[in-house]
Amino acid sequence: MKKVLVLGGGFAGVEAAIYLKKEKNLEVTLVSDRDYFYIYPTSIWIPTGEKTAKDISIPLAQLGAKHGFEVMVDAVTALDAGAKRTTLASGRVLEGYDYIVVAMGQDKMKAKGIEHTLSICGKPEEAGAIKDRLDRLIEKGSGKIAMGFGGNAYDSSAVRGGPAFELLFNVNTLLKRKRIRDNFELTFFAPMEKPGQKMGEKALVMMDKMFGMTNIHKKVGSKITSFEADGINFEDGTKLESDLTMFITAGKGHSVLEASDLPLSDAGFVVT
Ligand SMILES: Cc1cc2nc3c(=O)[nH]c(=O)nc-3n(C[C@H](O)[C@H](O)[C@H](O)COP(=O)(O)OP(=O)(O)OC[C@H]3O[C@@H](n4cnc5c(N)ncnc54)[C@H](O)[C@@H]3O)c2cc1C
Repeated sequence: MKKVLVLGGGFAGVEAAIYLKKEKNLEVTLVSDRDYFYIYPTSIWIPTGEKTAKDISIPLAQLGAKHGFEVMVDAVTALDAGAKRTTLASGRVLEGYDYIVVAMGQDKMKAKGIEHTLSICGKPEEAGAIKDRLDRLIEKGSGKIAMGFGGNAYDSSAVRGGPAFELLFNVNTLLKRKRIRDNFELTFFAPMEKPGQKMGEKALVMMDKMFGMTNIHKKVGSKITSFEADGINFEDGTKLESDLTMFITAGKGHSVLEASDLPLSDAGFVVT
């Protein structure tokens, strides 16, 4: 029987483990630094209270038991693909696997002052932190909220913008329901001239229409130079004031892969 080691317990890792277990002669082990599978796309409902982290998390042990793969909760710290050797944070070294599936997602690019922001695409706990900050502003009765995303000059496909739009519209709806929308300034920001362009020109026109209808301001086309506790600074010398900044940094290759022997693109992703 051949042995497969799957690194990562997100959509890619779990899907790979389930699919591979359908083959009769494969023994599959999945390693994840979290003991649960987190349904990221549904997390856009956490800040506005429609969902909780528990609603959108499934224990990996439950998935492993149902589909017949073993789950190991530990963090991968090093990978030697040539030698098929994986080192874990616990110090354990995994060898003797015939195949290794790398599915640890991506790391995030850094930006100056990023600690003043929260991301809906970051660690699962961040969605709850956005909710806490939003609840405090709602309690106060007014505020400035800015949500946006950044780019990766080496790989435009590593940009994730959809959740910023979705979350802004969700927040707009929540504030309207509470009849306090007029007390809040909502702004979408991004450094590109045409953020969301990969959705097509038609979608951009539609998005602008929706921003107009919902009175969401737009600040685009200037590089972000830094984040501060009270706002965002841009290369054109302007500052967007914000009490709550949600920023999705672009992705780059995982740090474990950066230090591995795998061939990588300029953005750090494995070249296949
Ligand atoms: C808010 C939001 C909304 C989205 N909406 C959509 C949508 O509507 N449609 C769509 O198609 N996509 C959507 N996406 C994108 C989608 O969620 C991602 O493409 C998907 O999660 C990627 O899956 P993945 O398994 O490659 O990576 P990840 O989901 O990042 O999973 C990586 C896994 O590896 C684990 N891991 C990381 N490092 C290590 C390590 N060192 N050791 C062990 N384990 C490790 C992590 O804990 C994680 O479980 C959305 C994403 C977000 C954040």
